[in-house]
Amino acid sequence: MIVLSRHLKFVICLTFVCFFIVACDKPEYLLDDFYRFENLERIELQKTEKLDYFLGYDNYAIPLQAKVYDINGAVIKTPEKAISYYSNGDKLPAESFMPEKTGVFELVGKLAGKESNTLSLHVWDLKDLSIRVSAQNRPSNEIIANGSDAISFKAELISGDGVIPGDFPIYIYVNDRQVSGTFSTSVPGDYQVVARGLGLTSKTLNVKATAPTTYAVVRLPVIFHEVNTQNLTAAKVKELTDGMTRAFRNTLNRSGKAKDVNATDIRVEFYPAPTGLNGNRLASAGLERVSSGNTDFTFEDIYSDAFKTFWDPEYYLNIWVYPNIKGDYANASWAFHPYVTEPLAGLRVLDKSVSPGMPFGIFLNARHLVGQNTDEILSHEAGHILGLLHVFSGDLTEFNGCPTTDPDYCADTPYYDRAAYAENMPSVYDDRFKRTSCRGSGYVATNFMDYFYSYNNSFTSEQFKRVRHVISYGLWLPTPFNSLKNGRTDGTVSVVKHPDHLEIVKPVICKMP
Ligand SMILES: [Zn+2]
Repeated sequence: MIVLSRHLKFVICLTFVCFFIVACDKPEYLLDDFYRFENLERIELQKTEKLDYFLGYDNYAIPLQAKVYDINGAVIKTPEKAISYYSNGDKLPAESFMPEKTGVFELVGKLAGKESNTLSLHVWDLKDLSIRVSAQNRPSNEIIANGSDAISFKAELISGDGVIPGDFPIYIYVNDRQVSGTFSTSVPGDYQVVARGLGLTSKTLNVKATAPTTYAVVRLPVIFHEVNTQNLTAAKVKELTDGMTRAFRNTLNRSGKAKDVNATDIRVEFYPAPTGLNGNRLASAGLERVSSGNTDFTFEDIYSDAFKTFWDPEYYLNIWVYPNIKGDYANASWAFHPYVTEPLAGLRVLDKSVSPGMPFGIFLNARHLVGQNTDEILSHEAGHILGLLHVFSGDLTEFNGCPTTDPDYCADTPYYDRAAYAENMPSVYDDRFKRTSCRGSGYVATNFMDYFYSYNNSFTSEQFKRVRHVISYGLWLPTPFNSLKNGRTDGTVSVVKHPDHLEIVKPVICKMP
């Protein structure tokens, strides 16, 4: 018989107790299958800080955490390690996930037969990625060094041909100085823009800041063809072209209201043409009086009739003044958008040798000579002829609400739903100058390319660049690009021939109250 000593009994007992305790601890590892959460309703896997992980940059294990809720929506306290975590169906050894290869990893937590929501973690290898920096909403990477013309940059993380969506710690630098994403300057010169982050650097984007004074002042001779009426005089013509000059030189402000922060000098001027087609001085500078057999006119009448007096547009900016306009255009003035030899958004491209098939110029409704700020209207129409579109989408009474793209291709002119504005015209006069942009912000209408009601005192930096493009590449304008390269020759200038088959090109129609 074996007699156990008291000491040995104690040791066996202690061993048994220890074993029991260890055995009692053990079930925690088995909770996934056996732990009983009778009231368990759902498991919510907590969002990790970010769902993109960059091998070679993010060198940490992603902690995984889940909350467990009962059928009443209350949180059930869950012991550590009670929940098992899986990546693409493989059980993870810990409550974290350490990515080691690229791919998409579906992460879930499981407890007592229930599965949590899935988090999709994208693991990238920086070796496969690049950063791209580009200018936003810009036709070119050129800015005017006037301190207000601002260019915005966009930095994107690229995998192959695709952009990886999300916010990443990528920052933009101009000449090695970090910027918030936009850049403006008063110092002309070349600027290098790069984006850096995640240990990557983009290719350099070159931005040129040009001093406004490097653009020559261009002076356009104007001829008014006043049909049937005699309201214009040499003095009145001079007053109107002076007003247009002031608008384009950023000094016209009849309302005295604050201008757009981006209001800028376009450096274009207008003057009454001193000489006529035969090269002799005109009796009244900038003015030709015309008689027509008609007493009133439809748009189609005018379109055809204007060819009788369509002076070569490479030598003159033609402005026709017609009275008694009938139909839809009764309260409208209008103009054509230009054609260019080098592309510009919203304009049509034509070869330089093509002659105009439409009476390319400005049509001023004789009604707009009375009781209106006619120079503001003419500045608006000259804006069209020089490549500017309405700041809103549409013309006359056809408006297109809020379009998906900027209707005038100028990022610094807000646009709005003109139809909604017209339908809800405020009764308080001053409120009529207020707008709500398509992006939801309130502003005051100051742009010449908006209309009633606008304070008509601003052309912006982006508009400056469009006009200067048209000055450089626009057809049928009295610019250095066309015949005025070396000044007017002494020869005669002809009237543009009426086409045998006249096709009507719709102008942009600007209705006034
Ligand atoms: Zn217009």
